[in-house]
Amino acid sequence: MSESIRPIRGMNDIYGEAAPYWERVESVAQAVLGSYGYTEIRLPLLERTELFKRSIGEGTDVVQKEMYTFDSRNGTSVTLRPEATASCVRAAISNGLLHNQRQRMWYRGPMFRYEKPQKGRYRQFHQIGAEAFGFEGPDVDAELIFLSARLWQGLGLDGLSLQLNSLGTPESRASYRDRLVAYFDSHRDALDEDSLRRLDINPLRILDSKNPAMADVIAGAPHIADHLDDDSARHFDRLQELLNDRGIGYSVRPTLVRGLDYYTRTVFEWETDRLGAQAGVCSGGRYDGLVEQLGGKAVPACGWALGVERVVELMRLGGSPVDTGAPDVYLVMVGEAAQRAGLALVERLRDALPDVRLTSHCGGGSFKSQFKAADRSGARLALILGESEVEARELGLKPLRSGEDQQTCGWDQAAERVAAILN
Ligand code: ATP
Ligand code: MG
Repeated sequence: MSESIRPIRGMNDIYGEAAPYWERVESVAQAVLGSYGYTEIRLPLLERTELFKRSIGEGTDVVQKEMYTFDSRNGTSVTLRPEATASCVRAAISNGLLHNQRQRMWYRGPMFRYEKPQKGRYRQFHQIGAEAFGFEGPDVDAELIFLSARLWQGLGLDGLSLQLNSLGTPESRASYRDRLVAYFDSHRDALDEDSLRRLDINPLRILDSKNPAMADVIAGAPHIADHLDDDSARHFDRLQELLNDRGIGYSVRPTLVRGLDYYTRTVFEWETDRLGAQAGVCSGGRYDGLVEQLGGKAVPACGWALGVERVVELMRLGGSPVDTGAPDVYLVMVGEAAQRAGLALVERLRDALPDVRLTSHCGGGSFKSQFKAADRSGARLALILGESEVEARELGLKPLRSGEDQQTCGWDQAAERVAAILN
């Protein structure tokens, strides 16, 4: 294959039968987010590199080795967004959206991380995310979790499990961090190379290690939940009460720490056991310090992001059925007069029946070849126009899936008859 048309590794085209699943996920998300009062924000794909360094954290994998960073033509270092919370906060500040206001926002679109591509992990992937600004209490954390649960319901996905933890305030987290470093330091021989590196720059992430050889030493590590400040502990208890009230099942997982530095207090993740190593479907939490850290006034915030590729994969493994986008009706036209009359007729049908999906055959050909195309299209009904139909100003209607007989009607009755057959 010529180099120029070789796709970039980890970046996919989405087409054919996959596309309706994407549409379904996006439309259900849009409806559910809208029903909770979240409004869409469309953000640029490029931001200043500094934004991500300052928010996600210099010591994180994302910033250290996964960002697509380059100099813009004026020399400014810019980065293709690896996630959108930082962009959302930037937008909220730069548009003055947080001046004495609270905001509920959502976004969707591609994110870019230079990771090792594998099933469920790509270099361009897509997220849908929700962010709430200005709410301090656990009620909004609960709302965001309810919202995500309703999304799974709307998509017909069950079997997702919710993992929960609290990271406390930056102060309580710092003192926990010291304890954790002391613990791991005294177990250095049990640490793998990755963890030794993290011990200095991001020790909490050691808890997140997927290396089975590390399981024991991690299991013995102190739990962050036992080192929370009183307010954070109360916040976490209240959130659990709210989830219990709503009947949402969860497990508290002491090792859930998340890969980005900006989280405070609540962190959570919806997981699946159906996608192999790529278990995380939706994750998020509270980031009370980020707005101020990026130059806004102190505003508490909470949000989540889901991975669209992983959700789509779960849907294909067994969500509610998705309309594959096949046409309802396929118009077969043989002969020049029929083609001319047919195109006019089908436009009138489209005016009369805007919800019906109508494909008209293009490119001519015999009845046989056009019927083949009609069948392949998945349409339920073929409309037939040949020389004799045109002369009689009539139309043949042939149900393609039910074995019913062909009918005939006048052009003026076409819309009515098509609607009757399809219903
Ligand atoms: P993981 O542990 O799988 O790397 P993460 O903690 O890096 O996920 P977040 O940054 O919290 O993920 O992003 C939220 C969601 O986005 C994840 O739960 C996942 O569904 C999805 N996601 C993250 N990275 C990728 C990727 N490279 N390809 C596809 N989906 C991804
Ligand atoms: Mg990751």
